[in-house]
Amino acid sequence: MVRSISILGCTGSIGRQTAAVAEHTGIRVAALTANRKIDLLEQQARKFRPEFVAVYDEQAAKQFKIAVADTDIRVGSGMEGLIEAATLPGADCVVTAVSGSVGLKPTLAAIDEKKRIALANKETLVCAGDMVMARAQEKGAEIVPVDSEHSAIFQCLTGRGEGELHKILPTGSGGPFRGRKRAELEDVTPEQAVKHPNWSMGAKISVDSATLMNKGLEFVEAMHLFGVTPDDITVVIHPQSVIHSMVELVDGTVIAQLGVPDMGLPIQLALTWPERRESMFEHLDFWKLRDLSFEEPDLVNFPCLRLAMDCARLGGTAPCVMSAANEVAVHLFLQHRLGYNRIYDAAAAAVDAVGVTAADDLETILAADAAARAFVRERFGA
Ligand code: MG
Repeated sequence: MVRSISILGCTGSIGRQTAAVAEHTGIRVAALTANRKIDLLEQQARKFRPEFVAVYDEQAAKQFKIAVADTDIRVGSGMEGLIEAATLPGADCVVTAVSGSVGLKPTLAAIDEKKRIALANKETLVCAGDMVMARAQEKGAEIVPVDSEHSAIFQCLTGRGEGELHKILPTGSGGPFRGRKRAELEDVTPEQAVKHPNWSMGAKISVDSATLMNKGLEFVEAMHLFGVTPDDITVVIHPQSVIHSMVELVDGTVIAQLGVPDMGLPIQLALTWPERRESMFEHLDFWKLRDLSFEEPDLVNFPCLRLAMDCARLGGTAPCVMSAANEVAVHLFLQHRLGYNRIYDAAAAAVDAVGVTAADDLETILAADAAARAFVRERFGA
């Protein structure tokens, strides 16, 4: 179990829940970082008294420094600040809860310092999976997934021997539009798309859950985290989100991890692993469970998942380009500047237009990421 953590992205949904788990388990918060929500950041900083806080936005960092001038908290800013938070000697685990490719450099820096990575930033593995996993192995840094699906698979795989695994079965609820046709979704609004049936999450990931892009990103992440090929992964739609994912072994045995759909559980486990602690979360009540049901994913009406699976097979910079294009498209959609169905169109067009190369170094990856963003802003941002 870790003793102290740095929370990168502490004002987002995962960051706030991580702070709550730290408080419950008595884990010290050594550093916090946020982009620009400094009011909430100040509340958190005064509560946890971290030694260091980084505000990514330079202007907001200046304001924050003034706001906490009466404390002994050191304040940093920009990418340098994020990296300092990620490598702080006083923290033995870094929770990467920032959203977007901004998480890449700090995560790599934390790996170099042999920190445990409680991984919640999707782009880390989607964009740089090969590099990050190789670096973690080389440095001996543990990567413990926070995402509920990967946490479940991680738990199901613990104690399994070499050659026992047949398939990884990530589950997904299917999102708020499960069963609908693509043509019926043309006029979907951001308000409708962010209403997830089971999980409470930030706006961007909620939209990704509606389009199934989230499941697609998780598909790519699972490949890297567990060292499997696309053919070893079968996505199972399970609308109740009680089974958080499963693994199938060579003899046909399926091992599943179940629990209430609350992100606090996998967050806590990533911090206490390999121990378990009592949590503040509800336990499953089998007598109240409705039926558990399963469906095949609809790749025709939810083409983002198919696109992600194709990009996983293409490899190189393809998943990164898709993810960056999707991120910009989702933000445009949330601002009512792009139609819901155009999110897929933008991501698919970006993969075609930007092209795919090997993803061997950070510069290439960040350039592909930037090219994808520029393409979508130019072509779809009008
Ligand atoms: Mg998930």
